[in-house]
Amino acid sequence: MPEARARRAFAEEVVVRLRQAGFQAYWAGGCVRDILLGLSPADYDVATDATPDQVMLTLPYRSLTMGASFGVVRVRHPRQKGNEVEIATFRSDLAYVDGRRPTGVVYSTPREDAERRDFTINGMFMDPLNGEIVDFVGGRADLDARVLRAIGDPAARFEEDKLRLLRALRFACRFDLKVEPRTLAAVKAMAAEVTVVSPERIAQEMRRMLAHGSRARAMDALMACGLIAAVLPPLVETVGLFQGKPVQPEGDLWGHLLLTLQLLPASASFPLAFAALLHDAGKPATRQAHGGLGRASYHNHEVVGARIADDLCRRLKLSNTERERVVWLVANHQYLGEAKKLREAKLKRMLARPGIDELLALHRADALATTGNAEHVDYCEYYLEHQPTGPIDPPPLLTGHDLVRHGLKPGASFAAILEQVREAQLERRIQNKREALELVDRELAGGEARPAEASPSAAE
Ligand code: ATP
Ligand code: MG
Repeated sequence: MPEARARRAFAEEVVVRLRQAGFQAYWAGGCVRDILLGLSPADYDVATDATPDQVMLTLPYRSLTMGASFGVVRVRHPRQKGNEVEIATFRSDLAYVDGRRPTGVVYSTPREDAERRDFTINGMFMDPLNGEIVDFVGGRADLDARVLRAIGDPAARFEEDKLRLLRALRFACRFDLKVEPRTLAAVKAMAAEVTVVSPERIAQEMRRMLAHGSRARAMDALMACGLIAAVLPPLVETVGLFQGKPVQPEGDLWGHLLLTLQLLPASASFPLAFAALLHDAGKPATRQAHGGLGRASYHNHEVVGARIADDLCRRLKLSNTERERVVWLVANHQYLGEAKKLREAKLKRMLARPGIDELLALHRADALATTGNAEHVDYCEYYLEHQPTGPIDPPPLLTGHDLVRHGLKPGASFAAILEQVREAQLERRIQNKREALELVDRELAGGEARPAEASPSAAE
């Protein structure tokens, strides 16, 4: 990602060049909002009266037409990789018929272009050369009053594109804005209809909400407005499920999930945050009450939860990489709870997994939200950092070829033999190939007693 100054400079250059060719051009939408809030825009959009063909003729940059029919061109900085600006012709949307997208667009005026946008804070233009704000929709006043308001009639605007229901809460939570009452009433009334939107677009909104530091607030708002029920239905049952956890003695499971989200590092990735949101999704179905006082156990809830997570990831059409990480995190969110009592080989194998940093972050947030004590995570991190026993994931001492060369007949027993050698290697009972082969011989001659479960001593 090019640095903020370089992106801003390129976005300014685009405006200057369009102006020099006689067109109108402004920064538009989210970047204007971010600048007024004192934030550094993630990306810049330019709005102009030049058509896509005129834009491409005017600007000396490599361009991609993103949908020339939608009036959008993307241009690339000639040298700075990743420095891109999206340039859209002032337009209005034609009729929306399916609650998702317009049937087409027509080129129009800046005012009409502002009015087709979703929220007043997202509907402003800015002249980067003199800082002037062009505001047809009252965005500036709403930003100053910290209000999120749909442009025009909220119900009609959500009817056009139901993704805006999620966007409303995303922006409100991200920027800590109050949702204007009519806008909020429309979100609540129409929440269930968000499912007409494609899973990919819904996932993209979830991704943006969960990858941001305001994730807990956003999920709380989604639940309160009925959007969790539409998008992640299994979570609804966590509301009111009594937990009695020391950190939140009065709290329900939903409260625990929100607190876990809040205790993640602010920079947590989407898969980590999504897994944190879902980590106990298997509890409602596995709950078994014990002798009153609301005591209960949740046997196998991580297995059931992993299945629920897998199903939700597939419904949202997440990538395989994202889905596998989310499911793995949910399935293993209890694994390191008693890290000190794990066989060293088991601990090492888990600590060598590629997602371990995220698993530890999930364990920490979950523990802090439950008992306030995360010593097991400290232990794992100490172990990782000091690597008291050599590389966490050393290359195996033996392979199947070695066994064949050693005179063994290939067969089903190979896997078990190699597994035993591996375990002995990770527990440092053997150091080299010769010792490994001696172990094999001993095993074949009748087996040696395994050492009892022991805690890794070097890290204590
Ligand atoms: P972010 O910082 O999250 O990217 P953004 O405001 O830039 O926020 P985008 O999704 O990148 O959001 O959209 C850019 C602009 O396009 C918005 O500011 C808004 O003016 C307009 N816009 C985007 N999506 C919609 C939509 N579904 N309906 C109406 N206007 C939209
Ligand atoms: Mg944007």
